[in-house]
Amino acid sequence: MENFDTTCVHPLKEDNFNGAVTSGIYPAVAYDYLDHKSLQYPGFYSTYNQQRLGQIICNLEQGKWGMVFSSGMAAISTAILSFTTNNDHIIFSKDLYGGTLKFANEELPKRGIQCSFANNTSESFKSLLQKNTRIIYIETPSNPLLSIISLAEVASIAKEHNIITIIDNTFASPINQLPLLHDIDISVHSGTKYLGGHNDLPYGALVSNNIDHKEIIHNTAKMYGGSLTPYECYMAERSLKTLALRINRQNENAEKVAQFLQTHSAIKQVYYPGLYSHPNHNIASQQMNGFGGMVSFELDTDLSGIDTFQRNLQLISPALSLGGVESLICSPVFTSHRYLTRDERIAIGINDNLLRLSVGIEDANDLISDLQQAIEKTL
Ligand code: PLP
Repeated sequence: MENFDTTCVHPLKEDNFNGAVTSGIYPAVAYDYLDHKSLQYPGFYSTYNQQRLGQIICNLEQGKWGMVFSSGMAAISTAILSFTTNNDHIIFSKDLYGGTLKFANEELPKRGIQCSFANNTSESFKSLLQKNTRIIYIETPSNPLLSIISLAEVASIAKEHNIITIIDNTFASPINQLPLLHDIDISVHSGTKYLGGHNDLPYGALVSNNIDHKEIIHNTAKMYGGSLTPYECYMAERSLKTLALRINRQNENAEKVAQFLQTHSAIKQVYYPGLYSHPNHNIASQQMNGFGGMVSFELDTDLSGIDTFQRNLQLISPALSLGGVESLICSPVFTSHRYLTRDERIAIGINDNLLRLSVGIEDANDLISDLQQAIEKTL
């Protein structure tokens, strides 16, 4: 594989129509099935553009095959439901995107699937193993606390017990982390975030290291729907051309912002895997190629101060979502983790004064000035 910057711009070696330098949009949902002309999986409205985008993301993530979905949650739920049934057991890392946590707490038990939550250490994953454990599902770096889990250790525990490993690689993106090269089986993404990168395109993606998964996952996807339209696929493909450029800038900006926050007296805690003070900075350095654009921090105030602080920001927008070119900030209490009770939130380390900042591609000094003036006006 060439350098990521090149692969993002030239993701597939095939020729486009009449030498066009970008790909086309093919709206057909029906393909001739005689003489093997049909697309590989008829039935999932498996359009040319979906297959092309799945292949591009697969190439970036360095897997065996990939497919795309209408949202990150569609990719996540399809991946999990493809390998589990009544009486099976899944071990999740405890730090999870709120929607995934709700899925584990509410949807899976309805299907007779038991869920346990590990505290991110290998020992904890091992201690929760059961005879019926089918999947270990992790997020690293996690949303919103940026916890880091050793990919190699989790993969080795799972391989020993013939368990499938799934990672939500949304926060890192393939530019910063290639989990399949660390023996993880399946990587899922909320493409809505870094892959899409412009806060305007909901989609999901899944890449697997195992060609045998293709039919199993595709059959589940067909049952639950969640396909992506050709136009959205084209938009997603266009966004991927700047993925490396965007991510590298976001990595640099986030590092500067994290350094600033770390030295500020009004900040009680900074969560960023690139800081030496992060408890798993060493693991992050071994398995990541960059530390990402997400920085979480606790401001020395209460819920009402958190509200005031966000209202005082002039450049950074208080808005849900992350990974786009615009810097966004949110309080997980009111957004990603609003489904949980206060006790449930505190139990997983999400305090009232936590803020999650998705650092964009603006000038880092402008972002720091904005944070500084908002802190001064708030405290
Ligand atoms: N995974 C992570 C880490 C997320 O942050 C999100 C959404 O915020 C999702 C998955 C769900 O993705 P989507 O909103 O595309 O369904």
